[in-house]
Amino acid sequence: MVRELKEVEGIIFKRQKYHDADLLAKIITEKNGIFTMLAHGALKPKSKLGAALLNFSYGTYVVYFSGHGLSTLRTYKNVEQFDGLYDDLIKNAYASFILDLVDHAFMEYQNLGKYYDLTKFALQKIASGTDPEMITQIVQMQLLAAFGVEPELRHCVICGQDQGEFDYSIKNGGILCKKHFYTDPDRMHLKPKEVAVLRTIFLLPFERLGSIKINSSTKKATRKAIDRIYQDTIDINLKTKKFLDELKLMD
Ligand SMILES: [Zn+2]
Repeated sequence: MVRELKEVEGIIFKRQKYHDADLLAKIITEKNGIFTMLAHGALKPKSKLGAALLNFSYGTYVVYFSGHGLSTLRTYKNVEQFDGLYDDLIKNAYASFILDLVDHAFMEYQNLGKYYDLTKFALQKIASGTDPEMITQIVQMQLLAAFGVEPELRHCVICGQDQGEFDYSIKNGGILCKKHFYTDPDRMHLKPKEVAVLRTIFLLPFERLGSIKINSSTKKATRKAIDRIYQDTIDINLKTKKFLDELKLMD
């Protein structure tokens, strides 16, 4: 098989020891998607590759690109780290969950398009001290479409009303206006303010959401709502999510 030598720009997010001193590292890139690189000898003390493959490193990696299965890392250029993501337990946990979630939304080597920018945006925001919970909720809502779930949040799914009070209905795949609450007794029974947050973080471009601030009880309610949307429509069980939930119990 012919392997092409290629420069890719991306973020490292999962590492695993492989054979003797070799390392497997996952990288998320824009055009070449998410794939695993084999780094020969990266775990040897003298290897220069190891430091460029720490979690949350980003930069330009030069790989023998395969297009499926493993690609091989040859060298790297200009690799940096998102400050503080690696050392801070909470930030690390949120960032790991976000990357894990994105990883599950795409096939290997599948072009991520705007979702790469979304991921990078989220990591930058979390690294620079923006509330990681809110950033994570934004990613979760915006990523629904990548999982093939596209809830209607612009207007009532039944009548198209786009003003007034709404509630979220999983059965109907979107929001209901007050007049149509009766069509789903199992609707989420969210407060209007909470639905407004879900709509905002789903509908607005993420670049405009970087400084959104929401009080903690609303944030807790939208967290529960988003978790339920994921459970009932996608149903993936991620260890990184479980860990995050456990951390929150300690709060
Ligand atoms: Zn309606």
